[in-house]
Amino acid sequence: MPDQRARTHRRCRLPCGEFDRASGCGRRDGRTLAARSANERSLKLSTKLDLVIQGGIVVNADHMQRADVGISEGRVVALGEALGDAKQTIDAAGRLVMPGGVDTHCHIEQVSGNGLLNADTFETATRSAAFGGNTTVVSHAAQHKGNRVAAVVKDYSALAARGAMVDYAFHIIVSDPEVEALEALEALEADIAALATDGHRSLKIFTTYAIRLSDAQILAVFALARKVGGLVCIHAENHDMIQHAVRRNLVAGNVAPKFHAQSHTRLAEAEAVCRMIRFSEFLDQPIMLFHISTREGVEAVREARARGAKVFAETCTHYLLMTADVLDRPGIEGAKFVCSPPQREVADQDALWEGLTRGDLQIVTSDHAPFRFDETGKLNKGKAPAFNEIPNGMPGLEVRLPLLFDAMVSRGRFDACRFVQMTSSRPAQIFGLRDKGRIAVGADGDIAIWNPKRQVRYGDNDLHDNVGYNPYAGRTVTGWPEIVISRGETIVADGQLLAGPGRRIGSSWNLASKGV
Ligand SMILES: [Zn+2]
Repeated sequence: MPDQRARTHRRCRLPCGEFDRASGCGRRDGRTLAARSANERSLKLSTKLDLVIQGGIVVNADHMQRADVGISEGRVVALGEALGDAKQTIDAAGRLVMPGGVDTHCHIEQVSGNGLLNADTFETATRSAAFGGNTTVVSHAAQHKGNRVAAVVKDYSALAARGAMVDYAFHIIVSDPEVEALEALEALEADIAALATDGHRSLKIFTTYAIRLSDAQILAVFALARKVGGLVCIHAENHDMIQHAVRRNLVAGNVAPKFHAQSHTRLAEAEAVCRMIRFSEFLDQPIMLFHISTREGVEAVREARARGAKVFAETCTHYLLMTADVLDRPGIEGAKFVCSPPQREVADQDALWEGLTRGDLQIVTSDHAPFRFDETGKLNKGKAPAFNEIPNGMPGLEVRLPLLFDAMVSRGRFDACRFVQMTSSRPAQIFGLRDKGRIAVGADGDIAIWNPKRQVRYGDNDLHDNVGYNPYAGRTVTGWPEIVISRGETIVADGQLLAGPGRRIGSSWNLASKGV
């Protein structure tokens, strides 16, 4: 698409994002920026704006422009020049004014499959997310055996409403679809339908862990999702291949954290990813493959999308920026980095970056799954646990965007438009969060103002979550979210938190993904 891309560049007078055919985010409407600005100016309200962000470069997924942003009653109401008086003005000269990050894969205040509660509450997790430039998180309402999903979502909503400082939505983990008991399946179907009507249309299933589903159950969930127009997110690793390798390692006395990576063989990801793709094609049900970590995984997704399968896929910050050698740190230190799938090799990282460049992978999330490095979390089975006794997961909400801005934009891999696309716009679009992921008239006033030159070195325990360690301690990033605004309200500025828990009710969600 060289011609189209060149035209886009000329209109913007600033470097634009690559025209990304696969993403659907490229600008195709043919309107020039000049026309757009005139329109936007005409929408300017006669009353005083609540907030004007002045003099920055506004970055959206498809273009950048020098513009002021006017916000009233929590929404963007004007975009252009000379927007007039406002109750509050923020000078953004030399700054990038970007949509707040949308992190669609995190675990907050959730009891994990092994019965352990995450270290973070909604308050601590969303505080951490806000410091990291995010204004929306999507976490998991987890069904455990015997629970009705309607009750699970009701209880989880109460926790979120009490603690959250930014907007949120949920994926509903389905772990108990009793396909043989017709009555139970009908109850689940009724719950899923009612939740979908309320805007909860994202289901999550596992092919591994205690909460894994059988193939028959997975097909039943796909069929339910299809009825309500939902999306099914999947943790895809083959459970029995992993358990086979775990047993083999334990018998051989291989208990150190590094054997976690070896046990979660790359073939276990490849097998489950391919199987889930075929299930998706069999029932014509859109899926989102979570945390692709291997070259084989990327290739399977690429081939599926080329066939027209309704398959989305993400990778996570740590697969792009860490390799399996982090698990081999002295003593039990490697436990801090145990997550599933595990970190892989440099060749896999190259494949993931290529997958993002080509659009095979659409988004990058954190998979924030926080456990403290003590007896309440990583070391709950003692001071020297075997690799399979270490809870899986790492903190990531706060570091995702600065690490990715540094890796993508500061190091010249992508421009800021692509960064916004993969970390905010596309996640919002895929999960039907209509008013998120863009700075445009009518969108929510969710904005992060970035200093692209600011350098920050991560310390051992400098995050605002409740985890107590930073897996990226010692790394220096260039580019930093200095001011974070949620629905027009400044919630983080100059390293200070200006929001309190419970300021979001998350009631305006419309999770309504309709496929690729
Ligand atoms: Zn996860």
